[in-house]
Amino acid sequence: MKPQVVFVLGGPGAGKGTQCAKIVENYSYTHLSAGDLLREERNRQGSESGQLIDRYIKEGKIVPVEITINLLKTAMEETMKKDENKFRFLIDGFPRNEDNLQGWIKVMDGKADVKFILFFDCSTEVCINRCLERGKSSGRTDDNKESLEKRIQTYLQSTRPIIEQYEKQGKVRTIDASCSVSEVFTDVKSVFDREG
Ligand code: UDP
Ligand code: MG
Repeated sequence: MKPQVVFVLGGPGAGKGTQCAKIVENYSYTHLSAGDLLREERNRQGSESGQLIDRYIKEGKIVPVEITINLLKTAMEETMKKDENKFRFLIDGFPRNEDNLQGWIKVMDGKADVKFILFFDCSTEVCINRCLERGKSSGRTDDNKESLEKRIQTYLQSTRPIIEQYEKQGKVRTIDASCSVSEVFTDVKSVFDREG
């Protein structure tokens, strides 16, 4: 069975990770966060990319796709090797720019199906406030005002155009992400009930 993929996009703090956890509880999907995989690789003893990843994350820049795609591909393969019924994936926080998208096409085209893009839409102001709130306890090196400004810039300049490209292909399912977790999830559920 070919991996069936939903890309989950939206600004920093839009609620991608939170909503993905709820999707996993209710539907048969495996959640892969590109950011979490990069942070794991950064922390892995002996990683050759650790320093580069650390720098990029603090700067709110997007890590070269060769690194990210490798982590995603390996995570998908390992999941499916352990259990062949686990072929549905939420890929959270990817593709974030043209380099990411081209890397995905180069490595995964024909090997996985992208079903749709789940887009959590909310204002920059809400994104910033949520990340600053999260920063009080997340321990993340990029949940501070300085990194956040750069992350927002990257999101607006690099990620939005990717969402627009998919929009033209009719592949984007937009969710208003500015309300409460449970209200947002009600909308998410209606998408997954319709499209699996
Ligand atoms: N990142 C990246 N490529 C990816 C995903 C994440 O380079 O495909 C880096 C990037 O520097 C980003 C950071 O990891 O700002 C944090 O990403 P994450 O998805 O964890 O942040 P979120 O959007 O969930 O707040
Ligand atoms: Mg996240």
